[in-house]
Amino acid sequence: MKPHKQIKDWGLGLSNPLIIGGPCSAETPEQIAQICSEMKENQIIPQVFRAGIWKPRTRPGSFEGVGEEGLTWMEIVRNELNIPITVEVGNAAHVEMALKHKIEVLWIGARTTVNPFAVQEIAEALRGVDIPVMIKNPMNPDLELWMGALERMYAVGITKLAAIHRGFSDAYDKRYRNKPNWSMPIHLKREWTGMEVINDPSHIVGRRDGLLEVAQSAMNFGLDGLMIETHHDPDKAWSDAKQQVTPRRLKEMIDSIEFKQSLENMKPDEKLFDLRRAVDHLDDQLLDILQERFSVIDQIGAHKREHNLTVFQSDRWKEVMDSRTEKGVKKHLSEKFMKELLYCIHEESVKRQERQLREAEAINK
Ligand code: PEP
Ligand code: MN
Repeated sequence: MKPHKQIKDWGLGLSNPLIIGGPCSAETPEQIAQICSEMKENQIIPQVFRAGIWKPRTRPGSFEGVGEEGLTWMEIVRNELNIPITVEVGNAAHVEMALKHKIEVLWIGARTTVNPFAVQEIAEALRGVDIPVMIKNPMNPDLELWMGALERMYAVGITKLAAIHRGFSDAYDKRYRNKPNWSMPIHLKREWTGMEVINDPSHIVGRRDGLLEVAQSAMNFGLDGLMIETHHDPDKAWSDAKQQVTPRRLKEMIDSIEFKQSLENMKPDEKLFDLRRAVDHLDDQLLDILQERFSVIDQIGAHKREHNLTVFQSDRWKEVMDSRTEKGVKKHLSEKFMKELLYCIHEESVKRQERQLREAEAINK
């Protein structure tokens, strides 16, 4: 699909996995200087430094960011660490100020991605500008909105793009601040070939403990980097105090994460090649069986039509669902997977039979 520039081609000397560190918010020049100095001391220089300048807070009255002045403090980072800077932009005025202060990378936050008006305003402000933009997933698990925001950037000529998975707001599941949904970034990667997705464990977990586990999962799933909020004195941070880690902890985390290799640029070894061949063969068989199953379904449809029966028979459906799920679970397939699979097959069967019915009725008219 749309050829865009991957992280390694942003012209900033970056590579995958991309590690982004820095505070939730820029607070004071001293804070920025202290974080930089502790990053140096602990030999953990991220590839990109993040800092929130304007903070989109859920409730008014919380700290809303230091504003433009904070952008001038980014000089400290350039002098101390010599790495590119990324800040969040939420409207055209933010874009203008970030560009004025030569910020290298922009990101769009979750509360902005949900709003196509805001995303479009940012896109218009970026028309003709060559700058990388990273787009966080929207608050709600809506792949279309996420893709839509990336497309709005692409449409105005922004080709240096990446996505950020920061989890989704969930009213009931309080284990996370924002629940991860690993199938969504993977789906995004399928829909937009080559799109890289950075993981943001900080906003997923919302606490310091558990960050490592989420970061490791992200790497296991093949995501392309990590954005981890880093502060020299997390407990005293002006925003997101519970989830930020010290540079020393960031170093420990990065050292203990196992970074998996992507096979994309490598030749798979012989063993993997054979296993994939086996999967290809099994998928062919699966398709043959599905084809056969649907042909029987069509025959059932014809029979129902002849005897004037409804397409959906709830007793039969329940029996199929329960018995297959039970069998599947015995074969170590999860109940959730079995239910989703059966729903999907059943829905397609009902649709086919209903279509058959309509076609037959049209002929008889
Ligand atoms: C942030 O990165 O500090 C932030 C506000 O994130 P999100 O948009 O994911 O809530
Ligand atoms: Mn934050």
